[in-house]
Amino acid sequence: MGLRRKLRVEPGTRPDLSNIATDFHGDFESEKAARKQLSENSRRLGDLQQKLYGEGRHALLIVLQGMDAAGKDGTCWHVLSAMNPQGTVVKSFKQPTAEELRHDFLWRIHAHTPGRGEVTVFNRSHYEDVLVVRVHDLVPEAVWSRRYDMINAFEQALTAQGTTILKFFLHISPAEQLRRFEQRLDDPARHWKISEADYAERPYWDAYQTAYEDAMEKCSTDHAPWYVIPSDLKWFRNLAISHIIAKTLDGLDMKLPAPSVDMDKIRALYHEAAKATPA
Ligand code: AMP
Ligand code: MG
Repeated sequence: MGLRRKLRVEPGTRPDLSNIATDFHGDFESEKAARKQLSENSRRLGDLQQKLYGEGRHALLIVLQGMDAAGKDGTCWHVLSAMNPQGTVVKSFKQPTAEELRHDFLWRIHAHTPGRGEVTVFNRSHYEDVLVVRVHDLVPEAVWSRRYDMINAFEQALTAQGTTILKFFLHISPAEQLRRFEQRLDDPARHWKISEADYAERPYWDAYQTAYEDAMEKCSTDHAPWYVIPSDLKWFRNLAISHIIAKTLDGLDMKLPAPSVDMDKIRALYHEAAKATPA
C-alpha cells in the first residue's frame, strides 16, 4: 500500500491516535537512506508548483495542525523552500483579534484562501475553532459542535471553485514534545519560540487528542482529506508530506499553457537581434 493511502483518514472512519506510532518511518531505515527520495520530492514539488502557477487553473491549500513543537513551522519551511516564492503564501492563525471575534469563525479564514495559481499553507487554521476552543470551553458545546458541518460546507465551496485541499495532522508523542522543548531551552536562537502556553497545554494532551480524532472523523472527506503524519522523525514527516502533495498535484494533470505567440516568428526575431548585437 502506498504511503498516501496508508496515512489518509478514510472518510467516515475515526483514527485511533493512541494506536498510530509517532515514530513510524515506513520503508526507510534512516534519514540518510531517505535523502535521495527527499530531494527528488522537492524537485517534483518545484516543477508542479511552476505548472500550477503557469496554468492558473487550480489552487492548493495545505492545512497544518498539531500540538506545540509538532513541526508546523519546520514543515512550512521544508515544503515552501522547494517552491518559487512567487505564488506561495504562509498564513499563521493566532488567537483571534477582537474584530475577528465579532465575526463568524470562518470570516478571517476565507480572506486568506488561495486564488487560482496560488499555493497557501495554513499554519493552524479554522480547525482551532473545534480544537483549542473546545478543549478550553471558549464557546459552549452547542456552538462548537455545529462547526464541523460548517467546515465541511466551507471546504466543499472552496473545492468547487478549483481548490485542492490537503490537511495534515503532525502526530508527535508527549516525550518527543518534551525533547523539543528541551532543545529550545538549550538553544538561544530558539528562545523566542518558547511560551508559557506550551507548558500550560500539556495537561490537556488527551483532551486535544480526542478533539483531533473527532475533527478528523467528521471532516476527513474525499474532497478535503485529513492525513495523520507520524512526526517524531522530522525527515520522515517531510518525506511523507512532500510525497502526498506531489502525488496529489500529479493527479491534477496540469499543463503549461500553450505559447501566446508564434514561436517561429519569435525565433526569427531572436536571430535578427543576435545578428545586430556585437559579440
Ligand atoms: P503559535 O502557533 O505557537 O504561534 O500559537 C498561536 C496560538 O493561538 C495557539 O495557542 C493557538 O491555540 C491559538 N489560536 C489559534 N487560533 C485560535 C482560535 N480560533 N481561538 C483561540 N485560540 C486560537
Ligand atoms: Mg507555540
